[in-house]
Amino acid sequence: MKLSELGEFGLISRIKGHLGADGGQLIRGIGDDAAVIRGGADVVTLATTDMLVEGIHFDLDYMSPGELGEKALAVNVSDIAAMGGIPRWSLLSLGLPADMEVGFLDGFFKGLVAAGNRFGVKLAGGDTVTSGGGMVINIALYGEVAAADVIYRNGASPGDRLFVTGTLGDSASGLELLKKGLRRSSCDLYESALAERHLVPEPRIKESAIVVSEKLASAMMDISDGLLQDLGHICRESGVGAKVLAEKIPLSGAFVEAGGKHGLDKMLSLTGGEDYELLFTVPEEKMPALDSCRHLFESGLSEIGEICEGTEVSVFDEKGLPLSVMQGGYDHFRKELR
Ligand SMILES: [Mg+2]
Repeated sequence: MKLSELGEFGLISRIKGHLGADGGQLIRGIGDDAAVIRGGADVVTLATTDMLVEGIHFDLDYMSPGELGEKALAVNVSDIAAMGGIPRWSLLSLGLPADMEVGFLDGFFKGLVAAGNRFGVKLAGGDTVTSGGGMVINIALYGEVAAADVIYRNGASPGDRLFVTGTLGDSASGLELLKKGLRRSSCDLYESALAERHLVPEPRIKESAIVVSEKLASAMMDISDGLLQDLGHICRESGVGAKVLAEKIPLSGAFVEAGGKHGLDKMLSLTGGEDYELLFTVPEEKMPALDSCRHLFESGLSEIGEICEGTEVSVFDEKGLPLSVMQGGYDHFRKELR
């Protein structure tokens, strides 16, 4: 069945069917003019939104509807985790071509709802419109955190140590392979691991909760546009510089093996976007606390450099020589991924 046969109200009741009943803090979800959510004392609400446009941010040639639903939510969840918060509620706006197959949307919602269950996020409402071109997905996500526990980008000081979760460069490498025509039905385990990192990123909610509960970080953000570009944001907001040691950048086996096989740029670990790892700064006096809980970081945790005086982000090789790296990362109004 096509969307044009189902109609808007048929679509909304179909979406309601995917979501199940309201409950808990969600007093009223879909079905009124606005969602009604119970709040709490001494808790702040975090709000973020992210838009995905077909042909710009995703390509349905290599992405399943379920993966798309999952990723659309995961990238927002990552922003809430980056502030130290717990994701709670989402609003979803969809621009849909009228000739879209309804089965595609069912797959999308299955992925979205499964991810919501995993991350503890309930869809509270949204809007659906016809798109003249491709599919457009906008999710607004609300999260909560105790007012005293919010972690901003602007708290880094010279001498703070620099940490990242997980491994870097996988998602951008996976995207390169997918764009080259790699398909998961016919690729090796390393190639498939990289593609997976791009298609279904894992927001670091648990890791963020550890950082919050141990009060480890003076500043934090998630890496969506590439390590150097995002570290530049922390530095600018905090009025500091940073030194990064290239040899300390955590690389996955898949990045090394599949990257070598396909001759991918190693600099993708410094500049490639969409890894959704956490980047945070730890003051010296918090290092004992960090050492006693670092085994809890299931993603892995790596120290990659330090915050210094100044305004520059510089990268050094294993001999201590400065590396010149194309400044960059993803810029939404420039053409290419650097
Ligand atoms: Mg972010």
